[in-house]
Amino acid sequence: MADPGRTASRVVSRIELLVVQPTPFCNIDCLYCYLPHRGSKAVVARETLFNLFSQVFASGWVRDCLSVVWHAGEPMVLPIGFYRDAFRMIEQLRPPELGVQHSFQTNGTLIDEAWCAFFADAHVNVGVSIDGPRQFHDHNRLTRSGRGTFDRTIRGIRLLRRHEVPFHVISVLSPVSMAEPREMFDFYVEEGIERVCFNVEESEGEHVSQSFAETGVDRAYYRFLSEFWRLSANAPGKITFIREIEHAIQQVIRPADAPFGNQLVEPFAITSMDWAGNISTFSPELLGLKNPAYEDFLLGNINRDALIDLPQRPNFATMLADIQAGVAMCRERCEYFSVCGGGEPVNKLAENGSFVSTETTYCRLTKMRATDLVLDALDHAPLAGS
Ligand code: SF4
Repeated sequence: MADPGRTASRVVSRIELLVVQPTPFCNIDCLYCYLPHRGSKAVVARETLFNLFSQVFASGWVRDCLSVVWHAGEPMVLPIGFYRDAFRMIEQLRPPELGVQHSFQTNGTLIDEAWCAFFADAHVNVGVSIDGPRQFHDHNRLTRSGRGTFDRTIRGIRLLRRHEVPFHVISVLSPVSMAEPREMFDFYVEEGIERVCFNVEESEGEHVSQSFAETGVDRAYYRFLSEFWRLSANAPGKITFIREIEHAIQQVIRPADAPFGNQLVEPFAITSMDWAGNISTFSPELLGLKNPAYEDFLLGNINRDALIDLPQRPNFATMLADIQAGVAMCRERCEYFSVCGGGEPVNKLAENGSFVSTETTYCRLTKMRATDLVLDALDHAPLAGS
């Protein structure tokens, strides 16, 4: 008889990122949000967290270090004491040879002195969502009563800076902000924001991106990144990290034999759990989505099922086969495959209606145009010694 643990270990190479939803609730209501249950005030039970971390640590699927992201809804709507208890319990369960790095992805509106002290104390990586200066941010990122959240978010960022808590920001670009790289750059510099990541408003779940509908969005994205990078290069020490450029450089300039993986298509490399203990993998956004072909993307529940048995589930086999078929098509047809690895399953599903597909607007922007930009820059770079 097959040993399930051994069969699973053939499918799963390692968990690199654990995405935990402590509550689906979010205190604000962004226009582009795809989360279906962001009005629910449910909270994950301590027992569910215990079952998750004890099983993850016992699975043999974690090597060296586990990144844990507390994400989606808004993690900071729960009190600091919740995280102090959770972190203490995780620390007690953690095998001594494994490291754990906690991160929060937050809208920043609830940051105060006590949170800053907690972040610093627990060495938490903090990512704050802010879409640039007020006129861009307040277009989409609204309270439940429809008011802009810029003032509260920037206050949170200023507090992080004052308390010297390291952080990065994630900004969702709209067609309007994409046309204003100088304004975006000046804003970050003025606010002392050094590490930036750019997302584009994506089509995910029931949310259909307006940005993607714009003609010329590829060119606009390329121009934005190019100009933003040029401005940063001309002002050394101001913007120290632009995620899209850093990632593209790492993929373009790497030794031929360097291993390259795409976490988003590796089974359980990203493992996601919602507040109720439901488990999913591949793109974290799949956790809350439904789809006529798959119904949902839940593989089991950590309170009832053994984590290491989840790769035996029939719906996992279907997802894996379809995602791998999409990756194989990408490998065959796309000249960017060596720097992409087959893209984001959730975007393929949302834009093309199937995992078994290739190009999306999302990958054209974030993979193809970002790679083009780095290759173009290398073409124009002066030769060493010349
Ligand atoms: S860039 Fe797009 S089409 Fe090319 S490999 Fe990535 S996901 Fe596939």
